Amino acid sequence: MLAGAIAVFTCLACTHNNITGRSQLSLVSETDVEDMAKTEYTKFLSTSKVVSSNANKDAEMVTRVGTRIAAAITQYYKEKGLTNELEGYKWEFNLVDSKEVNAWCMPGGKVVVYTGILPVTQNEAALAVVLGHEITHAVAGHGRERMSQGIVQQLGGVALSVALANKSAETQNIFNSAYGVGTNVGLLLPFSRKQELEADHYGLIFAAMAGYNPQEAVPFWQRMAKLGGEKPPVFLSDHPSDEDRIQKIQALMPEALSYYKPIVK
Ligand SMILES: [Zn+2]
Repeated sequence: MLAGAIAVFTCLACTHNNITGRSQLSLVSETDVEDMAKTEYTKFLSTSKVVSSNANKDAEMVTRVGTRIAAAITQYYKEKGLTNELEGYKWEFNLVDSKEVNAWCMPGGKVVVYTGILPVTQNEAALAVVLGHEITHAVAGHGRERMSQGIVQQLGGVALSVALANKSAETQNIFNSAYGVGTNVGLLLPFSRKQELEADHYGLIFAAMAGYNPQEAVPFWQRMAKLGGEKPPVFLSDHPSDEDRIQKIQALMPEALSYYKPIVK
């Protein structure tokens, strides 16, 4: 743990994540990203074809599964004494009509599922796996970490306070690409290998706690792998390969299953 403690103290712009135990580059505060999320989420929905959950069974399913996952996460944080970390969360779930195989969650619990991913999830448990995974990216601060890295790369870090104060177009672009919002992604946005593993790990636990069989993750990621097309070799990319991911998910399964209490209908 000593190495971890040193890392915390040597990175002044870092925060310690209480769920993953990892130190993360945080040039933007949680309040800042939650504020941006409110604006960007509203903007995204106003320019997208939102499927109304009135009498649409897919939209109803997205809300139902999302609400269960949110309740599981709230319970998990409560059990760890971390309820205050979700204070700014006002969950919203929307299904958007788009052929993209995508879903994402902005900080503060602003979730979008694209209709294009439903033929791949095929069932509620697999949708729960996807939502667990995407919501973990938000609650584990991955988007904030990625945004901080984007700021360093694109704005040199120096202009940060100015950029945030002005909510410049550049900052908004960095925010949107950090959270996978936009039409040019096509597939679920892969984060770094470490972040993907964290999202798979906690995502499976949250899906299981919400009453969904986490084992649906394996066939789901196999179906995703088939869609993937050409990918760079693993050593050239910081993203996990499909095979690597599926193997790790299988290794995480006993732990996830220990949280699994099927929904009683
Ligand atoms: Zn991911």
